[in-house]
Amino acid sequence: MIGKIQSVRGMNDLLPGQIEVWHAVERAIRSVAVEYGYREIRLPLLEKTELFKRSIGEVTDIVEKEMYTFLDQRGNSLSLRPEATASCVRAGLQHGLFHNAQVRLWYMGPMFRYERPQKGRYRQFHQFGIEAFGWTGPDIDAEIIALGVKLWKMLGIGQGVTLQVNSLGDVESRARYRGNLVTYFERFKNDLDRDSRRRLDMNPLRILDSRNPAMQDLIQNAPTMIEYLDDASRKHFDLFCEYLSLLNISFEIDHRLVRGLDYYTNTVFEWKSEHLGAQNAFCAGGRYDGLAELLGGRSVPGAGFALGVERLVELVNIGKMQPEGHPTQVYVCVLGSSAAKLGFKAAESLRHLGICATLNCGGGKLASQLRKAHKLKAAVSIIIGDQEAGTNTAVVKDMNAKRAQTIVAIDDIGAAVTDLLNPKWTDFQIYLWCGHVKWLQSRNESISWSSYGRSIAGP
Ligand code: ATP
Ligand code: MG
Repeated sequence: MIGKIQSVRGMNDLLPGQIEVWHAVERAIRSVAVEYGYREIRLPLLEKTELFKRSIGEVTDIVEKEMYTFLDQRGNSLSLRPEATASCVRAGLQHGLFHNAQVRLWYMGPMFRYERPQKGRYRQFHQFGIEAFGWTGPDIDAEIIALGVKLWKMLGIGQGVTLQVNSLGDVESRARYRGNLVTYFERFKNDLDRDSRRRLDMNPLRILDSRNPAMQDLIQNAPTMIEYLDDASRKHFDLFCEYLSLLNISFEIDHRLVRGLDYYTNTVFEWKSEHLGAQNAFCAGGRYDGLAELLGGRSVPGAGFALGVERLVELVNIGKMQPEGHPTQVYVCVLGSSAAKLGFKAAESLRHLGICATLNCGGGKLASQLRKAHKLKAAVSIIIGDQEAGTNTAVVKDMNAKRAQTIVAIDDIGAAVTDLLNPKWTDFQIYLWCGHVKWLQSRNESISWSSYGRSIAGP
C-alpha cells in the first residue's frame, strides 16, 4: 500500500466547522475597515527576495532564518511573503498611489515563515493589515489603534487584552541611543547569547526584542530609548498618548518594546491577550516613515499594523462567540427518477430567487433524506415523490414544525418557501392580535408577544 500524503508541517487546512468563525472574523474585519475609510489592496504571495532584505533588514529573524526563498527557472531569487507591509509600499510606489495623495489601505491573506510550528505559530498563517500613507501626525497612529479597539468590541474579545506602546524616535535620536546601548551591552558581552552577540555590531536594538529568558535581566536594566528622544519625537509620542486618552483607550508604556523589524520609527505598539498563552501578542505595528525611501521611492510617511488572524480566531473561539452556521435554508428531497429531475430544476429555481437550496443527490429513503436536512439545519424541506412529480407539485415542509406541511404547484414553491422563511401575518392573525391587546389593556396587564405569538401561530 502506498503512503498517504500529509500537509506540509505548520500549514493548516481550515475545515467546514472551523471556517464559520473565520467567516465571522473576516466579515467584522471588512466592515471595520470600511467604517474607518480604508480600501482593500491585494498583493502577490511571491515577491523578489530583495524587497524583504531591504525593508525588513538583513539582520532580522525573518530574513536570516524564516523566509521560504528559492530560485525560479531563470535564477531569480524569489520569496514567499513573510509579511505584507513591504509589498504594500512596493505596490504604492510602483502604481503611483502616493503621488500627492494620502491613502488608507488594508489587506488580508496568507504569510509564510519557516518557524518551529507550535500553538499560535505556524509556517503558513494569515494577517490582516492596515496601512495609512501620507500622514505624519500622531492622530493617524491613534486612529489605527481605535480601529483595533472597535474590532475587538465587534468580536467580543476585549476582556484581558492590553496595549503596549513606545517610541523609537527619529533616525538621529535612535543613532544616539544605539551608541549607548552598545556601550552598555559591551560591558556584559560574556552574558549575551549567541544571537545577541552577533546583533551587538549589526543591530543592537534587536537585542531588546530577544525572548530568551536568560537575557531578560540584562534587558530590563539597559538604558531606555525615552531618555534619548529628540523634541519632535517626544511631542509626537505625548500627543499620540493624549489621543488615546481622548478615546478612553487604556495603554501601558513599555520602554523595551522595539519590534523585530528594522523599518519602524517613532510610534510602535503591540496588542497582547492574557488568554493566548506563550504566543500572546496578536497585533503589532507602528510608524515607518523611512520605508519608502529604503525601497527606492521618495519619502512617504506611513503607519500601520499587522494582526495574526489565527490568534484572533483563537480568541473568538475562547469567547465562545456563536457564528452563523452553513446557510442551507431549504433541502430538496426527491424520491424516484422523474422526481429527481423535477427537484433538480426546482432547487435551481429557488437559488435564482436568492434562496440557498441543497438538493439531495444519490437517492435514499425519505427518512434518511430528512435526517440530512435536519443535520444541515434546513428551515424548510421540499419533498417530491412520484405522485408529486406526476402532478407537477411538491410538498413544502416547515422543519421546525410550526406549520403543517402543504402541497403547492411546482411554480409556486418559491413563494411558499419565502412565506415560511419570512412569515407574514395574515389579516386574521392581525385581527386576533388586536383583540388580544385590547383585552390585556382592559385588564391593565402587560402585553407579551411571546405568549400571544404562540397562541396565534398560523394554520
Ligand atoms: P512573534 O513575536 O509572535 O514572533 P512577530 O513580532 O514575529 O510575532 P509580526 O511580524 O509583527 O510578529 O506579525 C504580526 C502578527 O502576526 C503577530 O502579532 C502574530 O499575531 C502574527 N504572527 C506572526 N508570526 C506568526 C506565525 N508564525 N504564526 C501565526 N501568527 C503569526
Ligand atoms: Mg516572529
